[in-house]
Amino acid sequence: MEKEQAKKLLRQPTKAFRTQEASAVDAFCEDYRAFMDASKTERDAVRNAIALAEQAGFSPYVPGSPLLPGQRVYWENRKKSLMLAVIGSAPLSEGFRIMASHIDSPRLDLKPTPLYENGGLGYFKTHYYGGIKKYQWTALPLALHGVVYRRDGSRVDVCFGEREDEPVLYISDLMPHIAKDQVSKPGGEMIAGETLNPIVGSLPFDEEDGVKLRILSILHEKYGIEERDFATAELCAVPAQKSRIVGFDGSMIAAYGQDDKVCAYPSLRALFEQEVPLHTCVVFLADKEEIGSEGVTGLRSEAYASFLRDLCADAGVTDRAAFRNSVCLSADVGGAYDPCYAEAYEAGNSCYLGDGVVVSKYTGSRGKGGCSDAGAEILSCVTRLLDGDNVAWQTGEYGKVDQGGAGTVAAEIAKLGIDVVDVGVPVLSMHSPVELTAKSDVYAMYQCSHAFFKN
Ligand code: MN
Ligand code: MN
Repeated sequence: MEKEQAKKLLRQPTKAFRTQEASAVDAFCEDYRAFMDASKTERDAVRNAIALAEQAGFSPYVPGSPLLPGQRVYWENRKKSLMLAVIGSAPLSEGFRIMASHIDSPRLDLKPTPLYENGGLGYFKTHYYGGIKKYQWTALPLALHGVVYRRDGSRVDVCFGEREDEPVLYISDLMPHIAKDQVSKPGGEMIAGETLNPIVGSLPFDEEDGVKLRILSILHEKYGIEERDFATAELCAVPAQKSRIVGFDGSMIAAYGQDDKVCAYPSLRALFEQEVPLHTCVVFLADKEEIGSEGVTGLRSEAYASFLRDLCADAGVTDRAAFRNSVCLSADVGGAYDPCYAEAYEAGNSCYLGDGVVVSKYTGSRGKGGCSDAGAEILSCVTRLLDGDNVAWQTGEYGKVDQGGAGTVAAEIAKLGIDVVDVGVPVLSMHSPVELTAKSDVYAMYQCSHAFFKN
């Protein structure tokens, strides 16, 4: 064989931006950033996704009503997860095209009795949610997002610390001058979970009573709540910063919570742009992925399959027939190769920022444990769809064998007897308070969603 011919056999990485129109990428990423800045928790994301869906002609799904091709419905699951569908022209027995991603991200949740004071400062106690490096969450402006139910059952929505002119919360760290003992500990122990306590005030109520009482009275004036109401609240401390464009070339995005809204948002946008697809297209925006997909809003909940089963019932089709012919993209981020920490990766089987969506046969840890391990047949099918639409894609594992690993919602989908492949956007500094992605990969996820839905 000639050398030139032989060289053509090599797999050449594709820089995603070469396959895209820069102005379209920039416009899409500005929309994405606007969504991100307003959607830091799953509740925020559901609320904003519903607003966008209604603008795009979706209405709440009413089980038991006839479904017509092109119909656009959504089902809100307890304000924390969302399922949407655009009904296709083919019978449902030919299956769904599902994109499943998650909209929860690592953060600090307030404990049920959070407010206390110590050393003249007011604090909230927190319990972290998801996998974090605790030392990254100190000395950082934090905002508070969530909901409180008062004694009488009335609800108040809380969003504090996002406006430029508004105060934020802040977790202190020990100054390096006297941190000899602290910095000699292993990284995972440098900051104890019980020290992740945001400072919420410093002025006492009066000569006799302290900061706690003053903060409580301020919270009552602002939100009409009393101390017992924290027990019936979900309040999350998240990084207060807005997303930013990164690099002199403006090619990347730094934002909190890109895992996994960087997949959720593009799949949502592609769904909105379906008129009358061939197959019924579905988007799942799941909660609780970061703590194992448990709970009634996590993907292990029957709620998701019930939505599909209800659609099948309305169409007079058995869900068994529909599931057998369905395909799902488990759209979750990939851990991009980080040259500064090369020792944790196997360079030849890592995904790279800017090389397009990462298609993963398997995730899991310690011998693929916990993953669904997609079959070669469905991988061939999905990658041909991407090739057909000139969507840049790559493969990639989560670091070296036995270095750790990660799971996704893919295994939950596979339990339904539905073929599923992990596809996502490469992310640097995953689970950090601010995560980094390449614009071209965000757009590739949107192109990927379109390629998937139209087939
Ligand atoms: Mn994820
Ligand atoms: Mn994650």
